[in-house]
Amino acid sequence: MSAPALEVPHRHEDFVEVADRVFVRRHRFFDSNTTLVVGDGGCLVIDTRTTHEQGLDLIDAIRRITPHPWTVVNTHHHFDHVFGNSAFLPCDIWGHERCAEILRTEGEAMRLRMVGNATAAGRPDITEQLERLVVAPPNRTMNEYVELQVGERAVQLHHLGRGHTDNDVVVVVPDCRVLHAGDLVEEGAPPSFNDSYPLDWVDAMSRVAALSDGVVVPGHGAVVDRDYVEQQGAQIAAVVKLARETHADGVLLESAARSGPFAEEANLDALERAHAQLNGKL
Ligand SMILES: [Zn+2]
Repeated sequence: MSAPALEVPHRHEDFVEVADRVFVRRHRFFDSNTTLVVGDGGCLVIDTRTTHEQGLDLIDAIRRITPHPWTVVNTHHHFDHVFGNSAFLPCDIWGHERCAEILRTEGEAMRLRMVGNATAAGRPDITEQLERLVVAPPNRTMNEYVELQVGERAVQLHHLGRGHTDNDVVVVVPDCRVLHAGDLVEEGAPPSFNDSYPLDWVDAMSRVAALSDGVVVPGHGAVVDRDYVEQQGAQIAAVVKLARETHADGVLLESAARSGPFAEEANLDALERAHAQLNGKL
């Protein structure tokens, strides 16, 4: 899970143009963001939501903006960013090599887990959609960097090291200085540490901040800017500092979690993952 609330209210779910022909759609479901980059004769869709049906709903919104064929980018392997992929096929779906690998080998287990979660959350509609879902991993992969052409526009895909996961991709549109950060940056909720590498995330955030020169689109929540990225980076650095201190002193993580920079649960997740790294287990 990447956001605490299953659904958050907004007035609308329309794409909003945040820079020249770059549109962001902030969804009620999980408060998740999709960015659409439109060029001459092509468009790029960043993240595809949680189910095939949510992907189709996204396509309806895209078609109200552009008739051009799309390329898809997945920012990382988490279900709420990739499970809508099947609605977009056939097309190129870009992602980090590890994102494709995880979805190929563990995608089905992930899907079954999410069926259980949706049932437990009392969402029979989502349960049904997840039951018939076919996981579609990226079919075009990168490791560190690739530049794509979206019509006449160049768009950059960067992997800036491990952070929220081991396969985070940051998308930069240099001609209008937009950066889509995926879940390396979250607004409205603490960052999600479940699959994270906190010790590396600190450096990855510095690199995200260095590339941020205009609008920053987080994986969830309202669009932000470089200052916000720097603040969240400082919070992650603070929780890593706490992890190093408690690792040396043998303090109970549960009590340390109360004094961290995020909500207690997020602090605990971060401390556990950081300690696992310090113990050489990750
Ligand atoms: Zn995520």
